[in-house]
Amino acid sequence: MAQYIPIERDQTPWWEPPAAPAASPWRVPLFDLSFGREEVSAVTQVLRSGWLTMGRRTQELEEAFASEVGAPFALAVSNGTAALHLANLGLGLGPGDEVITTPLTFVATANSIVITGAKPVFADIIGPEDLNLDPAEVERRLTPRTKAVTVVHYGGNSCRLDEICQIAQSRGLAVIEDCAHAPGASHQGRPCGTWGLAGCFSFYSNKNLTTGEGGMVVTSDAALAQRLELLRSHGVTASVQERHQGGTALYDVAAVGCNYRIDEMRAALGLCQLSRLAERNRRRQKIGRYYRQLLAGEERLVLPFAGAVDSARHIFPVLLHRRVDRDAFREAMHARGVQTSIHYPPVHQFSWYRRHLPQAPGSLARAEDAGAREVTLPLYPEMGLNQVGLVAEAVAGALEEAWR
Ligand SMILES: *Cc1c(COP(=O)(O)O)cnc(C)c1O
Repeated sequence: MAQYIPIERDQTPWWEPPAAPAASPWRVPLFDLSFGREEVSAVTQVLRSGWLTMGRRTQELEEAFASEVGAPFALAVSNGTAALHLANLGLGLGPGDEVITTPLTFVATANSIVITGAKPVFADIIGPEDLNLDPAEVERRLTPRTKAVTVVHYGGNSCRLDEICQIAQSRGLAVIEDCAHAPGASHQGRPCGTWGLAGCFSFYSNKNLTTGEGGMVVTSDAALAQRLELLRSHGVTASVQERHQGGTALYDVAAVGCNYRIDEMRAALGLCQLSRLAERNRRRQKIGRYYRQLLAGEERLVLPFAGAVDSARHIFPVLLHRRVDRDAFREAMHARGVQTSIHYPPVHQFSWYRRHLPQAPGSLARAEDAGAREVTLPLYPEMGLNQVGLVAEAVAGALEEAWR
């Protein structure tokens, strides 16, 4: 292994600061990275330390993240999908099991269920004002095979965790929280990720806290934490570092696990990012409030999550009036230099899911309606309020052009 060979620690600066990023074709991009000198220096220190795989910084990140979200245990992993898969494996999901979840999410939420052999059962969302899973629909989809409910906090706005956890608890089901959008968010004062059995976070490039690729699972269940730790690293009972330090090659394999470890470069990035998460989330909220103020009188738009409190404000979704042609709207936005996106094409409408999990027509009508009308506007912490104004102006013009 490369890191066992001491790397040369010369003092000459071998590192060249990156050239200024290529000029963006957008006046306002959908999102932008927030990196500073600290990140560059933290990663450089790791490279110079000679230890790249999971070690001291990973442990520091886990401890800091656990304390930030108020969970007793946190395990850093290689990405958000790995976090979800690991939680599902830790729960013992397999063929014959069903997991109720939302179709209005990134496909990884459902894929991480399918990949265990279990079946995702899609339940509809609340509606245009709240794009999260509807507790009443969850209840309707329960069967004797239901083992868990996987919720998503769409855009960093908490779903109705109190109601869903109550439904789950009364039937002995686990709740897994896909918190990819929701680091730092909370529901009724209690952090997202700590309501369910496990909270799964993503540190992908465009998420609120980014390490490029990365993720985290948090739980308050000590036995589960131990099992997840085992499954994260091949099911092997001693870590590489312990083996290295103990000078022993002896280890046992107690389960069939994955390699879902993070590395020290990413952990170092994560520590820097975590220290500014709360401040950046506040900035996101401020931008969200300004959007809402500027777009408030626009009758051709629905602005979901009007009453959201303690949101991580990952994205700013709007729903277009049925008479607005979405493709034309997005083209008109792009022509004005404003990048947009769609969150999400509903999972059950993708070809694999249509083939293997066909849904009764109309059974997920609200998710389909939202999926067809949603457009995501730019939002990132460094976005200037003048840029928010520019986007709002573009929206007004694009609505005119795309009205049918
Ligand atoms: C990003 C995301 C994931 C997957 O995270 P990765 O780190 O990209 O694997 C899962 N669920 C949701 C809702 C996401 O937005």
